[in-house]
Amino acid sequence: MLQQVPASARQEHLSYISPHPDSPWQTYLAQVDRVVPYLGPLARWAETLRRPKRALIVDVPIEMDDGSVRHFEGFRVQHNLSRGPGKGGVRYHPDVTLEEVMALSAWMTVKNAAVGLPYGGAKGGIRVDPEQLSRKELERMTRRYTSEIGIIIGPQQDIPAPDVNTNPQIMAWMMDTYSMNIGGTATGVVTGKPIQLGGSLGRVKATGRGVYVTGREAARRIGLELRGARIAVQGFGNVGGVAAELFAAAGAKVVAVQDHTGGVFRESGLDVARLNAYVHEHHGVAGFADADVLTGEDFWGVGCEVLIPAALEGQLTEARARRTTAKMVLEGANGPTLPAADDVLLDRGVLVVPDVICNAGGVTVSYFEWVQDFSSFFWSEDEINARLEKILVGAFTAIWETSERLKVPLRTAAFVVACERVLEARAERGLYP
Ligand code: NAD
Repeated sequence: MLQQVPASARQEHLSYISPHPDSPWQTYLAQVDRVVPYLGPLARWAETLRRPKRALIVDVPIEMDDGSVRHFEGFRVQHNLSRGPGKGGVRYHPDVTLEEVMALSAWMTVKNAAVGLPYGGAKGGIRVDPEQLSRKELERMTRRYTSEIGIIIGPQQDIPAPDVNTNPQIMAWMMDTYSMNIGGTATGVVTGKPIQLGGSLGRVKATGRGVYVTGREAARRIGLELRGARIAVQGFGNVGGVAAELFAAAGAKVVAVQDHTGGVFRESGLDVARLNAYVHEHHGVAGFADADVLTGEDFWGVGCEVLIPAALEGQLTEARARRTTAKMVLEGANGPTLPAADDVLLDRGVLVVPDVICNAGGVTVSYFEWVQDFSSFFWSEDEINARLEKILVGAFTAIWETSERLKVPLRTAAFVVACERVLEARAERGLYP
């Protein structure tokens, strides 16, 4: 039932937030504003969505290989723990800020609830360019960061995982550091670990697989044939590279790829396997042979049916949304579309499959990993992929039906499904004390 919430019901901005309209946190707040009118009596609790439960800022000093000491800013934010322990990745990037980590943790709250995983939302990050560190420096930084946030993480409190520029090796160091500090082996404290340390088969490709599965479901509903469809992908890492591989295997043509080193284009379709191997070796797409160079803004005007932003947040601006020829946007990245761009895409009839369902494959298999660690019983990769498919198709179907029933875009529908679950848990638990 639609209920209007007066603007005056919203409380003041948090004191430590800069109200820049295009910041990830403001994007998230705008998304919450759009869902509140559909929450009925639960809207009473909506303010809980607009503030993180807990935000920890840590100093991460490390000794560099040359003997000098450098300090890095680290964060771990637990946005909401109403439905279970915190869950969300750790990002290493020079642009990481508290505000960005807050937004990413809030999207984890929504994502975990939208998919029905028994978790709250959390996220972490260090403001660092990891390419500037040696392997030993990276290890020291990861271990010190893990120790610093050790007071709020744990298998039943908050379970980190990989995100941009973090990987199974970094998760192994985190697991080992936490375990050393508690005097035991706590495999369930992080997910995305190497297989021999309690990692799960299928985890590495799970996010990209989820982008493919939800994209396939969405394409079927709008009558878009994937065989021969042209795909443009921004970000060719863990998410974009795998999604591109699976779409290519389904007969689509990946015509354009852009990453932080540049862009490549091939009308007849790039050789995705070779591009993945090239990126692995050269850390970027720049210089890849058998393709034309695609510069900056031209990426957004490329002729395509499917656009997959799979790099960072805020990439799909209003102007870029006007340029795209895509019929469908699959949000591999978290928060890639600004609210104004969402409106343009809606007006232009472009379907947006929102991040909170589109890239939920990773956290879903992280959940499987956590469950397997507790039971010390491990499933086959086929079993993992079948369970992933079942959960994502079920969650996507519920969101699609909500979208049709309320006549709202998929993002608002996903937020309705998720926020109802979060706020029902909130209301049932009651306010402490
Ligand atoms: P990654 O580090 O493996 O890859 C990031 C990619 O983004 C790289 O190809 C990089 O070149 C590109 N990139 C960075 N800055 C860019 C820029 N300014 N312009 C163009 N490209 C740029 O990271 P990932 O794990 O693939 O994560 C990508 C996105 O997916 C992030 O938004 C992340 O939060 C989200 N995500 C990741 C997972 C996961 O399991 N890894 C799960 C859910 C969501």
